[in-house]
Amino acid sequence: AMETEANSSVYISSVIPGWFSEISPMWPGEAHSLKVEKILFQGKSDYQNVMVFQSSTYGKVLVLDGVIQLTERDECAYQEMITHLPLCSIANPKKVLVIGGGDGGVLREVARHSSVEQIDICEIDKMVVDVSKKFFPDVSVGYEDPRVTLHIGDGVAFLKAVPEGTYDAVIVDSSDPIGPAQELFEKPFFESIAKALRPGGVVSTQAESIWLHMNIIEDIVANCRQIFKGSVNYAWTTVPTYPSGMIGFMLCSTEGPTVDFKHPVNPLDSNDSHSKSKPLKFYNSELHTAAFCLPSFAKKVIDSK
Ligand code: SAM
Repeated sequence: AMETEANSSVYISSVIPGWFSEISPMWPGEAHSLKVEKILFQGKSDYQNVMVFQSSTYGKVLVLDGVIQLTERDECAYQEMITHLPLCSIANPKKVLVIGGGDGGVLREVARHSSVEQIDICEIDKMVVDVSKKFFPDVSVGYEDPRVTLHIGDGVAFLKAVPEGTYDAVIVDSSDPIGPAQELFEKPFFESIAKALRPGGVVSTQAESIWLHMNIIEDIVANCRQIFKGSVNYAWTTVPTYPSGMIGFMLCSTEGPTVDFKHPVNPLDSNDSHSKSKPLKFYNSELHTAAFCLPSFAKKVIDSK
């Protein structure tokens, strides 16, 4: 019989045994499920629940507070795009800061850029770093690059202490705005990023799904337009294991040398990769340009701000 409204708030306890279903108040009424072969790790850090399981079709999966963060099969779509959309849009990026991204995947992608001399990362939860090194060697390989310095701490506090104009690029690879990443979606944090960037510097942030969070995106775009006087753009990629199968990014630049995000000045194609790193699986220059083309319902909200 159809559920009555009254009991609809009760989680359906008959989640299919042997499957992980991503049930969350952030995407009511829907839940992506993956078949679980084996749970490999379960822990609780000072900040969140951390779980790793072997799925049957997406490789190993990292879950934080019940939300899928990455799978071995499709993490390339997210890590490559959130990194190369900003770094291929400026000539010669040298100093790069990553906020979040404790799994190391963004570091792996930043390391492909030979012009980069310094890669700082500020991740709040050491358990994520340790778990990624243990279970996701092809992702945590990013930590092996000698240009990387890992800071364990809150990105909000870290950015407050960064001298003005330090970085060419900041990449905010955060979890969702419920939990430790909440402040990474708020205006003061964006202001601290703008201060930490040089003139014409760029920022790329995880910016949710146009299918699920148009309201969050609207607020982020409004804040970015007030803060980043260069340009404010939204781009997107497809990630099968993210809710709604896609996720977007804010790509902004500070006042100064113009940045045209839609035409990469510093192209990186699969044959450019260093001998050590594996070829790009997802990103290419055509997809870079296409990523900024939006469906009309999203364009109306994002371009009008
Ligand atoms: N890179 C992943 C992927 O491929 O989709 C997704 C995100 S990554 C796992 C998100 C990281 O942000 C987590 O490791 C989480 O601990 C970290 N994080 C959350 N809040 C933070 C904060 N305030 N400061 C620094 N890191 C934070």
